[in-house]
Amino acid sequence: REGRELWLLTVGPDPDQVRPAIWIDGNMHAGELAGSSVALAIAEEALALHLSPLDPDPLPGAVRRAAQQVLFHVLPRMSPDGAEAVLDTGRFVRSVPRDERPDRNRPRWVAADVDGDGEALAMRQLDPTGEWVAHPEHPDVMVARTVEDEGPFYKVYPEGHVEHWDGHTIPDADFLGDNHPDLNRNFPWEWRGEHGQQGAGSHPGSEPEAAAVIEQAARRPNLFAWLNLHTFGGVLIRPPGNQPDGEMNQRDLAFYRQVEHWAEELTGYPMVSGYDEFLYRPNEVVRGALAEWAYAER
Ligand SMILES: [Zn+2]
Repeated sequence: REGRELWLLTVGPDPDQVRPAIWIDGNMHAGELAGSSVALAIAEEALALHLSPLDPDPLPGAVRRAAQQVLFHVLPRMSPDGAEAVLDTGRFVRSVPRDERPDRNRPRWVAADVDGDGEALAMRQLDPTGEWVAHPEHPDVMVARTVEDEGPFYKVYPEGHVEHWDGHTIPDADFLGDNHPDLNRNFPWEWRGEHGQQGAGSHPGSEPEAAAVIEQAARRPNLFAWLNLHTFGGVLIRPPGNQPDGEMNQRDLAFYRQVEHWAEELTGYPMVSGYDEFLYRPNEVVRGALAEWAYAER
């Protein structure tokens, strides 16, 4: 929306020759900048497959030859507007630094640089009902209040202002309060509007970032693998996102078990099912997610 381009890099000879391809994207969540670096590092590795084999080669010959046949499509920064906002100001943005909701005139927190240091971070205010106390050795650090704590207690708010304040109630800060939607709720898979899924957007693919990914990926049914890079979970989340493993395609499950074995060995991160082990609330499916769209609906 701010005029920045989405860059999609394709690595591999004869890119127009249709063959198995892998998609890698990063930074669909604005503050998860490391995804861009990881995506670019993978692109470098993909280039090295063709240009500069290491001596000795850590890859078995058959694996290298198979990998050289694969096309890599790499989108390092799905949300360039969001990433720029985070890098420029330090403010929190879930995905995109805009809000076009019709009810955006309600009382709400809007991130801003209040103290003039060029950043929009967090503010604390003394409050007997606060949930936070100062760390005993590092008083600038807020830690969660416990029943033994004597105080003083603090409320923590985003650095910014309450817009359209009603004069008496301080609204709760919300991670989508002044920025909307969440790109990872804007894909067509099991999409529901805001009443059914926070962060959904006005319709599937309503955001130019999501629409671009949908268009580019839908044109490539030869994509057989997809890495959607995030930073919060500390886990490798695999499909399915809407049913227990016992109900999914059992060949897919067997394949994921093999990938899990390799991936955990290489990264140290556990692999979890998006349904059995990663729902925010049990049985409440996360709708409009990219990974589920990539797995189930292309
Ligand atoms: Zn994320």
